[in-house]
Amino acid sequence: MQKNNITTKKDDLILVAGAGGFIAGALVRYLKNKGFTRIRAVDRKPLPHWYQVTPGVENLSLDLSDEANCKRVVPGAVEVYNLAADMGGMGFIERFRIECLRSILVNTHLIENAWRAGCQRYFFSSSACAYNVKLQEDPNCRALKESDAYPAFSERGYGWEKLISEMFCQEYWAERGMKTAIARFHNVYGPWGTWDGGREKAPAAICRKIIDAKATGKREIVIWGTGEQTRSFMYIDDCLIGIDKIMYAENLIATPINLGTSELISINDLVGCIEKIGGIKLKRKYDLTAPRGVAGRNSDNTFIKKMLGWEPETPIRKGLITTYRWIEQQYKDRQAGKQTVRDVD
Ligand code: NAD
Repeated sequence: MQKNNITTKKDDLILVAGAGGFIAGALVRYLKNKGFTRIRAVDRKPLPHWYQVTPGVENLSLDLSDEANCKRVVPGAVEVYNLAADMGGMGFIERFRIECLRSILVNTHLIENAWRAGCQRYFFSSSACAYNVKLQEDPNCRALKESDAYPAFSERGYGWEKLISEMFCQEYWAERGMKTAIARFHNVYGPWGTWDGGREKAPAAICRKIIDAKATGKREIVIWGTGEQTRSFMYIDDCLIGIDKIMYAENLIATPINLGTSELISINDLVGCIEKIGGIKLKRKYDLTAPRGVAGRNSDNTFIKKMLGWEPETPIRKGLITTYRWIEQQYKDRQAGKQTVRDVD
């Protein structure tokens, strides 16, 4: 079970990288609500394009693939959360492998400078894409456990960057004694996530398509692949709780761990679930040329339950209702010419 050794004080400086994006933007708010008074949030996007901006936080618009910027942001940071990465759904990571690989620069420079600055804890957001793809060739394949990352055969580009960055985290603990935490996120969704523009993931994309079909009177939806692909999807609130627990778990230092739900769902069933929320039934068209990723992927939560006595628990239907309503409002706001969460580099 989890053993905590929390020495961080509420007025210690916390650095959050990637804070203009979905998860880190929500994490900044979470940490602020938890009572941390000094948070430094960094993202390469200009501030007006950040998804969420939490009041009372120092916000810096800097590219962390440049080592000089990493050196500039770490002084005084007791904890560093690295969630900065060039990433998106399958449409993005299959097409932009070089951009994904180049995120290695962020972690490489940030962890080195965090260590030099005397940081006590360093969190890295890894991904289920680090797992061996050969174990994911069937929609009904068994759930992935932590040891399935090796022998390594990660998702090209994005997955390999995650695996190597995990290794950096492990060695900064082994050789240099900095406490590192490594969570392998399985698909995360929820309000304030990317929902349009090419980087969005399946739940947000399907919500948007259904909302759009309702608004325009189109009676069909295009689904990428056969729709038989399976995944598990974690609601953002569970992700934040998981990050918090993993960061402070002394028995998980430098130990990659799944952070995802084990509720497997096919893309076809996901569409059905969102259609019910939207109160509409659409004709399905399957685009077999579109990126579809691995055939099946689920999180084996045996290890997280053993180590933390907890696992992400929001049922997909519950999380989708909130997400759908939020995207619906975004859609209306955009139509009304108001600013919405967007994806601008
Ligand atoms: P996101 O794209 O919304 O946020 C990532 C942020 O990092 C963006 O705002 C981007 O501008 C920033 N960034 C990228 N390169 C940067 C750089 N060089 N310097 C500074 N900032 C930079 O993505 P997210 O969904 O919030 O994901 C956060 C982390 O979680 C990422 O590491 C991602 O790989 C990981 N992850 C996410 C999911 C998911 O389903 N969302 C799944 C697995 C892993």
